[in-house]
Amino acid sequence: MSKAFGGARFCWLDGRVMGTEEALVSAMEPIYLGIFEGIKAYVQGGVGEEGKLAVFAWDAHMDRLWRSAAIDGLKMPYGREELFEALKASVAKNEFRKNIYIQPRVWPRAGERDEVHILIPTWPFDTLLPSSNPSFSKLRRFMVSSWRRVSSDALPPQAKSWANYANSELASREARRCGYDAAVFLDSRGFVSEGTGACLMSVRGGKVITPPVTASILESVTRNFFIERLYPDLGIPCEVRDLSRAELYASDEAFLCGTGGEVTPITSVDDIQVGKEYPGPITKRVADQYAEVVAGKVRKYRDWLYPLN
Ligand code: PMP
Repeated sequence: MSKAFGGARFCWLDGRVMGTEEALVSAMEPIYLGIFEGIKAYVQGGVGEEGKLAVFAWDAHMDRLWRSAAIDGLKMPYGREELFEALKASVAKNEFRKNIYIQPRVWPRAGERDEVHILIPTWPFDTLLPSSNPSFSKLRRFMVSSWRRVSSDALPPQAKSWANYANSELASREARRCGYDAAVFLDSRGFVSEGTGACLMSVRGGKVITPPVTASILESVTRNFFIERLYPDLGIPCEVRDLSRAELYASDEAFLCGTGGEVTPITSVDDIQVGKEYPGPITKRVADQYAEVVAGKVRKYRDWLYPLN
């Protein structure tokens, strides 16, 4: 069993499934020009169970991978169906029966700017969902980072490129150094942007408020799904608009959303407690409904799920 990648024994690289230790490229590769995706496959029937897996929102993630490639000028040598078949082969070889994280990575080959390597690693993860999961309610103290979110006139946050994650890493390291668990970014104008790897939702007076794409956020698959589908289904009003730092402090509830972060409740920001109840009632409703959706328990969203085995 490989120690790398959370124990995943196999991955897919440039056309074939191979052992993770065998998946080698030259140390001279221009990996800093790479893009990637973060995708999850959940056990169908219950996120805490073992069994058959289905990918949530594969198409939306592939749309973004292709957009990131276009922004960074990378040509994709495979179609999205071929990548899905590659993923299926790798999952079968790994014999996964628990929730997995999938992180397709694309970067130019050394000396061949127009040609790319594609790697699809996968590994198991522990979910925070649903709200009855003890890890969901863990206390999470956030700070507003002294680093601003990369702005789109320097490094486009809409492309999911590794380079943007140096910005996230600076903020995360600063937060830990200062004794916090995590950080929230402001954008270059001073409005709330997002977390270091997830989008931000503030709840005020029963309404969700979330910063717009122009606030230097990554165009999040989860955020879009929540705004367009999940909130309307639950009858939760949502406003997409600039959010000030003071409004964030004065939220009744706040949470992050994203593929990796799922629904992550925020306890405090800069030592100011967010709201009276933690996790808040809307945060819990959203988390519970999302858990149902990704486990295939909401009939109308079954076509958002792509069975792997
Ligand atoms: N913002 C950043 C910086 C992220 O890394 C992520 C995770 N991909 C998100 C937001 C959430 O995006 P998604 O819902 O597509 O996972």
